[in-house]
Amino acid sequence: TAQRLRGIPPTIFAEMSALAVRTGALNLGQGFPDVDGPPEVVARAVEALRNGRNQYAPGQGTPELRAAVAAHQQRHYGIELDPDTEVVVTAGATEGIAAAILALVNPGDEVVVLEPFYDSYVATIAMAGGVRRPVTLRAPHFRLDAEELRAAVTDRTTVILLNTPHNPTGSVLTPEELAAVARVAVEHDLVVVTDEVYEHLVFDGRRHVPLCTLPGMAERTVSLSSAGKTFSFTGWKVGWATGPADLVASVSAAKQWLTFTNAAPLQPAVAWALEHESGFYASLAADLQKKRDLLCAGLGELDLDVYLPESTYFVTTDVRRYGHRDARAFCLALPERAGVVAIPAQAFYDDQEEGRHKVRWAFCKERSVVEEGVRRLRAAD
Ligand code: PMP
Ligand code: GLN
Repeated sequence: TAQRLRGIPPTIFAEMSALAVRTGALNLGQGFPDVDGPPEVVARAVEALRNGRNQYAPGQGTPELRAAVAAHQQRHYGIELDPDTEVVVTAGATEGIAAAILALVNPGDEVVVLEPFYDSYVATIAMAGGVRRPVTLRAPHFRLDAEELRAAVTDRTTVILLNTPHNPTGSVLTPEELAAVARVAVEHDLVVVTDEVYEHLVFDGRRHVPLCTLPGMAERTVSLSSAGKTFSFTGWKVGWATGPADLVASVSAAKQWLTFTNAAPLQPAVAWALEHESGFYASLAADLQKKRDLLCAGLGELDLDVYLPESTYFVTTDVRRYGHRDARAFCLALPERAGVVAIPAQAFYDDQEEGRHKVRWAFCKERSVVEEGVRRLRAAD
């Protein structure tokens, strides 16, 4: 294995899902819904498979999906995009992240990233030869401190890699926090890559605000999203990057050498979904909010410190009061102890003081599964 991948452990999601399969435990670890997205959308994909959409799609993505993404950004956020030059379809947001970082980060450049971070950020920054500079969102509220953000930027910083709504904490950055990011980005002439895959999965009447809508940001922001989260099709790996033509051209330049193109028959189905299914994600969010409350109440009864998430389908807890100091040891023992799998959130931290005792639980599961998880944890208590 090449130097650039040494020291990067295998993704924690695969490790913990394999543990769930091996032990037969309930998987509240890796974030994937156990109910598929809308059947009408699946029907569109089947139709495309039957009707000859089985060869390479254009590298930028099919025209109907690019148009649907542009229309979605307009409808929800008032963002005007040229579907021909300001949208590129990616193999999930994961490829969007990789293409953007590989396209925009030179070896030795510093990338400011929110900690806890989504694990692919670490690997991707390393593959680009960049250096990560974490800014920690601290429990219990996981807010972004403007001074810490400012302090993380040096004269070697070129990119801020943002994530809001934020996995794993569930924080939705406020207008003030976004304004702080924008101020730093404009002052230091930085590009911001913003991962907004949970844009529609927000709770309690909150609203996600895309960073690119702030003054001075449209020209320096690459925004990423994915049908995986919005429509519960994580296995389709259809995502998109949007932004000004020059930055989208850079992302496309990298994407063409990563996958060239992806998911030809799924793209028209996702286009259809974006145009017809906004009711789906509104009801998905409402349903997830109820499951959040169910799981958080159950975890709270176990005397764990539970940090109620504002968004996503994850909740972070601190397991110290439950008698554990090390999240990884706790999670490795949990299948046997309780028949449940969760994710040691320390995998998302450089700062082990902050991360060592945090565990992430997923609630994107059927109500009965969440209830059973809580029942098992209670029985093992
Ligand atoms: N970013 C974040 C914050 C995520 O949680 C995920 C998880 N799926 C991704 C990116 C990857 O998205 P995709 O599955 O579309 O590649
Ligand atoms: N995004 C999902 C999570 O955070 C899983 C994605 C993956 O397995 N890479 O759990």
